[in-house]
Amino acid sequence: MEGSNSHSHIQLSKEKISHRQKKQRMEKNETRSAKLLDLDVLDCPICFEPLTIPTFQCDDGHLVCSFCFAKVSSNRCPGPGCDLPIGNKRCFSMEKVLESAFVPCPNTEFGCTESFSYGKVSSHEKECNYSQCSCPNLECNYTGSYNIIYGHFMRSHLYNSTICSSIWGYSSVDVRININEKVLVLWESLQKLLFVVQCFRERHGVYVTVRRIAPSASELKKFSYCLSYSIDGHNVTYESPEVKRLLEVNSQIPDESFMFVPNCLLRGEMLELKLGIKKLMQK
Ligand SMILES: [Zn+2]
Ligand SMILES: [Zn+2]
Ligand SMILES: [Zn+2]
Ligand SMILES: [Zn+2]
Repeated sequence: MEGSNSHSHIQLSKEKISHRQKKQRMEKNETRSAKLLDLDVLDCPICFEPLTIPTFQCDDGHLVCSFCFAKVSSNRCPGPGCDLPIGNKRCFSMEKVLESAFVPCPNTEFGCTESFSYGKVSSHEKECNYSQCSCPNLECNYTGSYNIIYGHFMRSHLYNSTICSSIWGYSSVDVRININEKVLVLWESLQKLLFVVQCFRERHGVYVTVRRIAPSASELKKFSYCLSYSIDGHNVTYESPEVKRLLEVNSQIPDESFMFVPNCLLRGEMLELKLGIKKLMQK
């Protein structure tokens, strides 16, 4: 009896000390850090995307991200096997955790040194200069960070003139592409950019598209392009509002942003096109 009393007394004084220490730390604005071993706990249990602020909870404590919360019908918790009411009750303790959880960019191993709060990592990933790109020369299997892929291409493939040509100042250039070779790489040396003209053969004709090797939301450089093809007095022109970006050339026919040349306008294997690439003005 006596022992348990003195034990609880000791505990109490320990609590008092740590409480005082914490208060002092908070007053001095000092922080402590720890490693979070499982990042999945910061994901929404409904959609598995990173939780963002505000985070909501039902009467039973199930967490719901703002996106899923917006889709909640008749104020019932979407948690598995739960049907309890969910009002506007936020989970401030989780929001505090989210504010304090910083994670490194997934491209750390390739040289990126940035860290972000957990919910912002995926938007950084879409523009990270260290995103891994594949060399657009289909015979080469080099992969490297976006910021060095141009250098690799120029060192390794510059003299392979059948697959690439230079575009200066984005004025219109003549492009000759063999429908069966599928890919033609164009480079722009001032800003060190690689553009890819790609053909996709299909039953009724050929799709032609122009894209740039870059992460999907890379920097502020945005371009539009215009393709035109003339044969025997016929003219096919396509104007794209934006050059899409890709990390790796693939053989999937794009569902937007392409020119279509029907079979009846094709003469042999070569397509002779005029291509203009323009830098879009930033607002
Ligand atoms: Zn969610
Ligand atoms: Zn619930
Ligand atoms: Zn990064
Ligand atoms: Zn290469």
